[in-house]
Amino acid sequence: MPFLELEKAQLQNELAELKLPSYRTGQLRRWVFARKTFDFALMTDLPKSVRQQLAAHFGSILQTTTQVRDCASDSTEKLLLALPDGQQIECVLLRDNRGHRTACISTQVGCAMGCVFCASGLGGFVRNLSRGEILEQILLLNSLLPKDERLTHLVVMGIGEPTLNLDALLSALDDATASDGLDLSVRRVTISTVGIPNGIRSLAKSVANTGKEYKLAVSLHAPNDELRTKIMPQNRFAGIAEILSATDDYFAQTGRRVTFEYILIDGVNDRQKHARQLSALLKNKTAVVNLIPFNPVLELPFRTPPEPQVRRFASLLESGGLQVKVRFRKGDTINAACGQLRRNINKIGGD
Ligand code: SAH
Repeated sequence: MPFLELEKAQLQNELAELKLPSYRTGQLRRWVFARKTFDFALMTDLPKSVRQQLAAHFGSILQTTTQVRDCASDSTEKLLLALPDGQQIECVLLRDNRGHRTACISTQVGCAMGCVFCASGLGGFVRNLSRGEILEQILLLNSLLPKDERLTHLVVMGIGEPTLNLDALLSALDDATASDGLDLSVRRVTISTVGIPNGIRSLAKSVANTGKEYKLAVSLHAPNDELRTKIMPQNRFAGIAEILSATDDYFAQTGRRVTFEYILIDGVNDRQKHARQLSALLKNKTAVVNLIPFNPVLELPFRTPPEPQVRRFASLLESGGLQVKVRFRKGDTINAACGQLRRNINKIGGD
């Protein structure tokens, strides 16, 4: 099995089968996670024969090929990765002047949710990513940083619906947050979901078992079921009331304030009445609303509202008693919104 597919205990077993002492597990994890080294040959505190044995057994540590590394002046860097079966995924590194180094990762190839404003789902759903494929994105983004820097935050906001690939994701996050892994703080890991109540409940259950209280973000994007079902067809299976009841449970379980993401699309969900409805909906929740101006997608007819309109919407929510953050997106210039690089590159390639 590829190296990164193995959880720590599995790696331990595999090394035992190779007749290697158990302390090799710790050495290997230090190289891969702390020293950002993905080549057995460079692991100089292992005897040369062991390095050769590991290389022969595992092949290469990384399974993906970086096809495009797209850098922009606004400190966003995006990787387009080819998977062993030729599929492609995207992940993004965001840096800000507060010292935050945030990885944004994908959990699936394509997406089945069909949100009408999102580029990720345009080509449909292909498959889930494995634990190793998810972990590899995190490691690669971490390795883009200088030697003495490492990721401080992780957001699961790339391509795909994380709650539909929860086991693989949580297994990868275990290593991202392990003290002998990447040692990211659990509190700085955010999982964003389209809002599948059963998925949210499964996550809550896992949190109860492991104590890893990841931050939950829900892509709400509309304040009533009629509009939400129009722009997020998944909503017809479980509407807003069910989603909110599941997020209430998550809050009760973790004590962690839930974030509701709300993209503002000109003329679609950004009117005064929408702000009023949203305020009423979330009034008694311990929650924060993240307002995100729509990021234009080439094939799609939607537009970004002018900035004053965004600010007006935000202040309407605030006067309705909600906590609001406006997130002006970074990385537009490099197709950093979901699924865009993958599509644009393939179009250039002639599909
Ligand atoms: N499936 C999960 C994870 C994707 S996260 C979810 O729905 O939350 C990506 C976030 O970006 C989601 O909130 C998604 O709705 C939002 N998004 C998708 N397309 C966008 C666009 N063109 N502009 C702004 N936000 C967008």
